[in-house]
Amino acid sequence: MLTPVEKLRRKGLKLTPQRMLIYDILYQSTRHPTADEIYRVAKRRYPGLSLNTVYKTLESLIAVGEVVAVETPNSRAHYEITKAPHHHFLCRGCGSIEDVPDSTLGKISIPRGLSKEYDVTGFGIMLYGYCPNCRAKRQTKGGG
Ligand SMILES: [Zn+2]
Ligand SMILES: [Zn+2]
Repeated sequence: MLTPVEKLRRKGLKLTPQRMLIYDILYQSTRHPTADEIYRVAKRRYPGLSLNTVYKTLESLIAVGEVVAVETPNSRAHYEITKAPHHHFLCRGCGSIEDVPDSTLGKISIPRGLSKEYDVTGFGIMLYGYCPNCRAKRQTKGGG
């Protein structure tokens, strides 16, 4: 197994300390942080770091396929390290995003008419609802 650093090097990415840190923050996180959240954590180590650098770094990591952006319909993109395909669950209460592994995921077929005309490069399924925390809060409030 290649370490993350070796992997990035092999892909020809120049490994500045900032890039390594941003990659590492994503690597340690299962919470699909936004660029702002990554920025806040990274700034503790590099006070001079700009949000723009975080965006640029994320873009270069996406370009080499090491990071993916998880799009949500009502907010900014969330980011995660590339791993096996999975669904996502978006909590309507707190906005957290969870991974939902599903072995049937690879079996979804792309309509033939579509793939004739479009270059489909990927797909994602987003489930919505309330996480255990928010669900409990709603129940104690007497809401449904
Ligand atoms: Zn929640
Ligand atoms: Zn995920």
